[in-house]
Amino acid sequence: MPQITGTTKLLGVIGNPIAHSLSPVIHNAAIEHLGLDYFYVPFLVKPADLATALDGLASIGVVGCSVTIPHKQAIIPLLANITPLARAVGAVNTIWHTPAGWQGTNTDVAGFVSPLMAMDRDWSQTTAIVLGNGGAARAVVAGCHQLGCSKIQVFGRDIDKLAEFRSSWQEIQLRVTNSDTPTSVIVSTHRWDELPDFIDREDLLIINCTPIGMHPQLDASPIDAEIFAKVGANAIAYDLIYTPRPTKFLQLAAQRGFTAIDGTEMLVQQGAMAFELWLQQPAPVAIMHQALLAYLAARH
Ligand code: NAP
Repeated sequence: MPQITGTTKLLGVIGNPIAHSLSPVIHNAAIEHLGLDYFYVPFLVKPADLATALDGLASIGVVGCSVTIPHKQAIIPLLANITPLARAVGAVNTIWHTPAGWQGTNTDVAGFVSPLMAMDRDWSQTTAIVLGNGGAARAVVAGCHQLGCSKIQVFGRDIDKLAEFRSSWQEIQLRVTNSDTPTSVIVSTHRWDELPDFIDREDLLIINCTPIGMHPQLDASPIDAEIFAKVGANAIAYDLIYTPRPTKFLQLAAQRGFTAIDGTEMLVQQGAMAFELWLQQPAPVAIMHQALLAYLAARH
């Protein structure tokens, strides 16, 4: 743990609950590795106290915070400014304080795309299958658009929520990586039971944005072996869940020979990007990843 002195500056994470947060592990490992005079603290903030908490954090000189459930949307009207990307996603996961007040952005999108950008793949030939239509699915849709996926198909179990999800993207334009011109985010939404009709293809990026398969549901998967058997070669399975490692979803994908990516990549990369915003220096990503994996291995 970094040493706290009279000059130590604070970073943190606000959420409710907060005890489960892995962000302190990741950020304090980075701070210690770089020998910085900072400390990253979990702050339990109830929804009714959010505005007061932001004022308080500013008044005691907190430099920046991660923002987690349930504050990612509610915090928006309380901030002086948010980035166009955070506005498009409709969620802020990172804030930093300036003389003009709290600024906000969303690093989940960049965190999600980071392991995908590292791959040599023609994304314009890839269809994204997004399982779930909650908060994380919003960042994933933005990320799939940035990658340039040819289609983004979102699957959910609640027709009203699906319709709301689709219409929320109607006015949104985002830049595709390597292009300066923003283009409309086109999303189609489908009922969960329609999934088998959409997966008989060669080019899929399938992303689990539901909690199905999360610890302790070790044997649950949003897609079963029978459906996986229909998925064409060259698929990528990406699970946002980071415990267990691997999830049943990723085990089934690996059995079919597909590329499998777990949620630790996104978690570390979104944190690394926040770290760089706060501290204006490169984050030690490998150290952060190593600290996370060691912590998870010790816990389970
Ligand atoms: P959320 O806003 O609560 O959304 C969850 C989604 O999953 C909703 O669409 C929900 O459907 C659906 N769902 C839940 N149980 C389901 C079931 N049994 N069958 C079908 N659909 C189901 O949660 P979130 O914030 O998007 O998080 C989703 C997952 O991503 C969580 O496991 C979270 O830990 C993970 N995550 C990981 C990272 C990372 O950095 N790796 C970041 C964010 C989130 P309804 O709306 O119909 O209930």
